[in-house]
Amino acid sequence: MGNTVAIIGSGIAGLACAIRLAKKGHTVSVFEANSYPGGKLTEIQLGGYRFDAGPSLFTLPEEIEALYKLHGLDPKSHFEYKKLDSICKYFYPDGTIINAVADIEALKKEIHQKTGEPKKNIQKALNESSFLYESLSPLFMQKSLHKTSTWLSKLAFSAYGKLLRFNFNRTMNQVNEGSFKSEKVVQLFNRYATYNGSNPYQAPGTLNIISHLEFGIGAYFPTKGMHDITQSLYALAVKVGVKFVFNTPVTKITIHEGKTKGVVTKYGFHKMDRVVSNMDVVATYEKLLKDENKPKKLLKQAKSSSALIFYWGIKKEFKQLDLHNIFFSNDYKAEFDHIFKQGTVFNDPTVYLNITSTQKADDAPEGCQNWFTMINVPNNQGQNWDEVIKEARVNILKKLSAQLGEDIESLIEEEDVLDPIKIEVRTSSSQGALYGNSSNNRYSAFLRHPNFSKRIKGLYFCGGSVHPGGGIPLCLLSAKIVADNFE
Ligand code: FAD
Repeated sequence: MGNTVAIIGSGIAGLACAIRLAKKGHTVSVFEANSYPGGKLTEIQLGGYRFDAGPSLFTLPEEIEALYKLHGLDPKSHFEYKKLDSICKYFYPDGTIINAVADIEALKKEIHQKTGEPKKNIQKALNESSFLYESLSPLFMQKSLHKTSTWLSKLAFSAYGKLLRFNFNRTMNQVNEGSFKSEKVVQLFNRYATYNGSNPYQAPGTLNIISHLEFGIGAYFPTKGMHDITQSLYALAVKVGVKFVFNTPVTKITIHEGKTKGVVTKYGFHKMDRVVSNMDVVATYEKLLKDENKPKKLLKQAKSSSALIFYWGIKKEFKQLDLHNIFFSNDYKAEFDHIFKQGTVFNDPTVYLNITSTQKADDAPEGCQNWFTMINVPNNQGQNWDEVIKEARVNILKKLSAQLGEDIESLIEEEDVLDPIKIEVRTSSSQGALYGNSSNNRYSAFLRHPNFSKRIKGLYFCGGSVHPGGGIPLCLLSAKIVADNFE
């Protein structure tokens, strides 16, 4: 017979976990502090402009499809997406533009033409990235690292034999500098460290695995926008019987004799057999498990970077821009030193521009574009964010105006800002980090909190702050690991 289960939070992992546990016959209630599901994966509307508020890059759509298939439904009739032919446009300070296309032969030609990088170097790096993915993802992404059975499995033994090739001992930048002649290509491949909020000059070369997600498997776009991932999974959860309680923060997880007994909200005590926290793990221990012993070492790990986002309604269409655009800093090393060593923002930041109206015309009025303009910033350590935002806005506008040959500020007709403090307030993410812990040292992957508590029976964890890490695909896999190990 199934158990009663409380899930704290309806982030992407909370939704996926609810869908999976419902399939296992459990009675699932999701308590959500906000009035809406999705956590970071939400949207905002400013006048005639719609913006995906958080994640913009969609990879591994099969992890969404798996949730429909689990319930015997055809994903295609519930959630539509398409593969992108052009993954990202890279703009360099000297005027060079690289269009990173999905077709690998065309990609190699494009990079070679623009930078002189021999095609064989690019192919070799892509092969290495594919090798890392094939060797490591079944172990590090799909399994709990906190079960002996994982380390005694065939998968693990096959990985032990290849350890040296995983580049744990060199940084991403060292590996990429060894792979490519062109500094521009090194910068392009170093950028993948930011996909989990890390620093390519500190993070192990193993993180070169990330580029395989885009170049080997593909970058995608949900045809109704990123927010449709939340909407679709919320609808699926409701369909399979999950109950949602919005505007209802959980204030305590009740433990008795080392076992979960339920959760407390403004409505009182809710008796539950099991509890899954999709709330950031640091906040879970600090706010909901005040009287329990804490895994101090795990909770103290350095957090990932955060982000500063300007949502701009732009009253002009820039045909040279794509869905994903990067305007690189002139000094990438200095930019990361500012973020990770000094806790400040560099005055020439790399700017990421996401424009969903290039794919979904009704996201902006005719002849206009919705610019999600983002820079990586340190997580919140008490900086004066008003000052940081003011300065960053000037520097971003200066950079974009120079590169696009147009005064951008005069084209802004709608504006809103998201900063690390708002991210923390809206989703409980410790220090406003986007991806939980950073991966800035070779042990990071092993120092995330497990998907279950070793001390409290019946307590589980999913989401970007626990194993296997942040980002939509990994959050979805954290939910799978919880369900696979649910007792
Ligand atoms: P979260 O989204 O963190 O949500 C947690 C939920 O729990 C929230 O709804 C919160 O209200 C609720 N909650 C917290 N405490 C309580 C409580 N006590 N009681 C009840 N409810 C509670 N990922 C990508 O894959 N691609 C990207 O391009 C990308 N870009 C990003 C850009 C930005 C600006 C941000 C912010 C994130 C980005 N990410 C990206 C990361 C991705 O959004 C996250 O890793 C993922 O969405 C986190 O999901 P989660 O399940 O951990 O829950």
